[in-house]
Parts: sequence; structure tokens; C-alpha cells
Amino acid sequence: MSQQTTSFPLEFERTPSQTARSIAERETILADPGFGKYFTDHMVTIDWTIEKGWHDARVTPYGPLLLDPASSVLHYGQEIFEGMKAYRHADGSIWTFRPEKNAERLQSSARRLALPELAVADFLESVKQMIAVDGSWVPDAPETSLYLRPFMIANESFLGVRAAHKVGYYVIASPAGAYFTDGVAPVKIWLSTEYSRAGRGGTGAAKCGGNYAASLLPQQEAYDNGCAQVLFLDGETGTHIDELGGMNVFFVHGTDTLVTPRLTGTILEGVTRDSIIQLARDRGMTVIERDVTVDEWRDGVASGEITEVFACGTAAVVTPIAQLKAVGFTIGDADAAAGEITLALRQELTDIQYGRLPDRHGWLMRLDAEVTA
Ligand SMILES: *Cc1c(COP(=O)(O)O)cnc(C)c1O
Repeated sequence: MSQQTTSFPLEFERTPSQTARSIAERETILADPGFGKYFTDHMVTIDWTIEKGWHDARVTPYGPLLLDPASSVLHYGQEIFEGMKAYRHADGSIWTFRPEKNAERLQSSARRLALPELAVADFLESVKQMIAVDGSWVPDAPETSLYLRPFMIANESFLGVRAAHKVGYYVIASPAGAYFTDGVAPVKIWLSTEYSRAGRGGTGAAKCGGNYAASLLPQQEAYDNGCAQVLFLDGETGTHIDELGGMNVFFVHGTDTLVTPRLTGTILEGVTRDSIIQLARDRGMTVIERDVTVDEWRDGVASGEITEVFACGTAAVVTPIAQLKAVGFTIGDADAAAGEITLALRQELTDIQYGRLPDRHGWLMRLDAEVTA
């Protein structure tokens, strides 16, 4: 590793797309983007080899990757990713939310998956570079955004089982419509008792594709039971709540206390989770991170102690949970309206993200300025 030939920070070479969508085509897509269906005209690529480290940072036309069939990611799943959003403010400027958190989480995911760490500055620059070429893809309708998907794969052509000596980092971007088009609607969630998403010492705290692959079958079970999402218990005792397939969970006790499962190593530490904790404390609420059992949830709802339950993550921000369904029992009322505190926290967080409230914690980073071409 002594031949570190890379510059720091990395400099990006830019090749504009010759086949970029027309303004009219883009406007048609942005009018109804859905989620994860359409991709912008460009992408970022940075290569890594064990000899050279990170090198050849570039912005190119969006297009397929050329992968050798022996590429290690295809066989052993050595892959990690991030999810964040670019928000357009009323004055047209483009911002993202706490991106250094995503950068640091990509580094910790990389450590767990034996992938190389990308410097925080290079991660931030990669996202700015995307906006420099595809900023016009950030929609401006309420609650819309450009979803940014940085990811890293092992792409050495080698079937031996060890950490790859060749890796690629990429950023793609996809316009996202408002998650809730008709008001914030509470969901039913399904309690998986047969499957876990993570175990002690496993990859639960890393944002890796493998965790999602393992959640798809229980997620299907949730759909089959009329639920939107699956809730996982801790793998060790099967008694307390970990999180949903891709969102963290909160319980409102009374009107002034928020309880969320503590980070045990099997839970993914959400940026939204951390931000909700801060906003709740700012309001004078008590926030407690501790184990929460399914029994406590059932008893708390029955006694009136637990007044609201919600899930949170970048994509949907905050989603009220009306009911937990499980084999043989339910908790809560499927028709319950969204809770007051749930909605207030959601509103405050999105107001900060969209620049409608002051950014008192310095959480926003401007993306459409200071880009070095
Ligand atoms: C990404 C993710 C979350 C939410 O994290 P945010 O940073 O808030 O988007 C929660 N749980 C899992 C398993 C995740 O992958």
C-alpha cells in the first residue's frame, strides 16, 4: 500500500452525456417520478485497487457497468450503500442533510464488509459533482427530492474467498416524488417471528445489500398479511424490538417521552433516528434509548401509556404505525389516525430539510455551489 498514487482530495474528470434527456423529457419524468424508477443523465465512478488506492474519480454519462462474470460482488455479496436526498429550497438552491453522517456510515459499513474506506471529503465531493451536472433533476414540488444512492462493490475477477483487491464506488441519482401524496397515512406492520435480519456480531449495523436480501422473504410475508413493512426482533432472544427492514422505530409515552431501541450492534444507526432524538430533546421531551419488548408494546398500548408509534428513515422521513400484526395477535387499531407528536416531529424535520425553518443545528450542506469543475 506504499504506492499511494492518488491525490487528496480526489479530482474529478467530467465527460458530459451526449444523450441527456431533453428539458421536456425531464419535466415529464419530474412531474410524476415515483421512487427509484428513473435515473439522471450522469453518474460518478471512483476506482480502487490495493496497489493504487482510490483513483480515476470521474463523472460520466449514466450507463451499465461492465462486470466480469467472476466479479466478486456477484458471488459473495461484498457491497455497501448509502441513501440521502437533495432538496430544492424555495429560492432554487439545492441542499442535502447531514451528509457527513452518511460519509462516516459508509466508512463504518466498509470496515465491516472489508471494503476500503472513502475519505469523507471525497464522498462529499462526489455528491456535489452529481449535482453540478444533474442539479436540474432536483424537483421543486412539495416533499419531492432527488434521491442520491452512493454504493461500493467488490469487482475483482476472482473466486477465492477473501476481501477483493479491486473495488468500485459509484453515485447514481433518482428523482423521488412525495412519499405521502394524500396526507401522512399510518401503516400496519408485520412482526416477523420466524426470521431475523441481524445477529450478534453480524452485519446489522452496516448498510449492506446482504441485509436487504435477507429481509425480502419476511417482507413478502408482510405484504401477504396486508402490511406495508416487516418488524424484526433481536436475533438472540426474540423478545425485543430491533427495527423494520429499512427504518428505525420510536414509541411515544404519554406526551413527553420518546423511547427507541438502543443501538446494540444489530440495529442500523439511522441519520433520521439521530435527528429525531435531537429534535425531541429540543422540545423538552425525554428521550430514552433502551430495549423495548413486544410485551411492553402490547401492555403500553392497552394501558394508554404508549400513545404513538412511528418509524423513520430517509425515504419516508417519518411514518406513523397504526398497528402491529403478528401470528395470533395484533397491537393497536388499524384505523388509528397519525399521532400529534409524530406529525409535529415529521413537520419540523422536513421544514428544516426544505429550508422552511432555520437550520439551528447546522445540518444542511449546500450542493449547488463551490464545485470545482
Ligand atoms: C438506511 C436504514 C435505516 C434508516 O437510516 P437513515 O439514515 O435514517 O435513512 C434504518 N434501518 C436500516 C436497516 C437501514 O438500512
